[in-house]
Amino acid sequence: KLDFHPAGRHFLQIPGPSPVPDRILRAMSYPTIDHRGPEFGALGLHVLAGIKKIFKTNQPVVIYPASGTGAWEAALSNTLSPGDHVLMYETGHFATLWKKMAEALTLKPEFIGLPGIEGWRRGVQADMIEARLREDKNHSIKAVCVVHNETSTGVTSDIASVRRAIDAADHPALLMVDTISGLASADYRHDEWGVDVTVSGSQKGLMLPPGISFNVPSQKAIEASKNAKLPRSFWAWGEIIEMNKSGYWPYTPNTNLLYGLHEALDMILGEGLDNVFARHNRLAAACRLAVKAWGLEIQCADPAVYSPVLTGVMTPEGIDADAVRKLIYERFDMSLGTGLGKMKGRMFRIGHLGEANDLTLMATLAGCEMGLKLAGIKVAGSGVAAAMDFLAGQKVPALKVA
Ligand code: PLP
Repeated sequence: KLDFHPAGRHFLQIPGPSPVPDRILRAMSYPTIDHRGPEFGALGLHVLAGIKKIFKTNQPVVIYPASGTGAWEAALSNTLSPGDHVLMYETGHFATLWKKMAEALTLKPEFIGLPGIEGWRRGVQADMIEARLREDKNHSIKAVCVVHNETSTGVTSDIASVRRAIDAADHPALLMVDTISGLASADYRHDEWGVDVTVSGSQKGLMLPPGISFNVPSQKAIEASKNAKLPRSFWAWGEIIEMNKSGYWPYTPNTNLLYGLHEALDMILGEGLDNVFARHNRLAAACRLAVKAWGLEIQCADPAVYSPVLTGVMTPEGIDADAVRKLIYERFDMSLGTGLGKMKGRMFRIGHLGEANDLTLMATLAGCEMGLKLAGIKVAGSGVAAAMDFLAGQKVPALKVA
């Protein structure tokens, strides 16, 4: 329990849950309605159509009242059978958790990637996937699973290159992609990239609280689900997709979060997806300039796959990144992401996703810079000044008074 309530808003700068805009909070405060009534059907049809634009798909989008982890399970259990061999790529902590889940579900995951920390600093190496699939002459590998935006490291992998690798090996494996933290912040194209199951969640780029998550199955994945033998009931796509045609669900959906999704779609599509992505890229570039000006290292070692969602910041040898985070939390009322798994204590993560703008990023960087200095870290220069100079010089759509 806090001994007093700090003035102003808490700065929630973890890479999700991201801050929920007031518009969305208000929309979610409408009274809960009958989920079998006519108003609900209209809401359901509206959000189910709108969310397709965010995934860039014409396929049905399945919405679960569950966190992203549930949607991971749904992707695997709808399409695979006990003992199936799946190829999973280690980009970081979340890829590792998905692999653990595959084991728990009695699948046989093969985990490939670059060795040690190196794999946690770069994106998916599509050539490694291609080479492994070429060896798999009898097609025992049933699925390739990759994380689009690895939230534990700040790396956004090139999903089109993974599709090309699977095609080049002429392999029938399903491509499953986790874009839980990438969706609506980084460009994502379910149909164009030939993804068979996309998995996502509400609490990141969509600016909603945690509590709903998504599967987007390709036609090939829907066909696979007809013969898949893993047990599933709550997650089963068939009945949900059928009932969704009239805007309803087989069970009680998360009504108030769907109000929030309605509002979020209005905000994101109103701004325009390309503008949303450009804003995230601009903020991420400013954040990286700040980290470089401090003289600290960015966790992602390959500029081609820098994440627009978050930036991982490595602390100097001997400095506990969690102690720095704690100091910043207690002094400035700001939450930063912790180092996960192999990176525990070695780095912190700055989220710049969702409704982030130039000034929220500047305040975040100011909190970091003050915190780094208070923690006794000698910064090389002012990251705040570097980010400010960069942002001031950027061309952005200006607000106009009509
Ligand atoms: N995958 C990624 C990339 C994530 O960032 C997260 C959560 O942060 C998850 C999976 C797990 O999702 P959830 O915590 O909503 O269950």
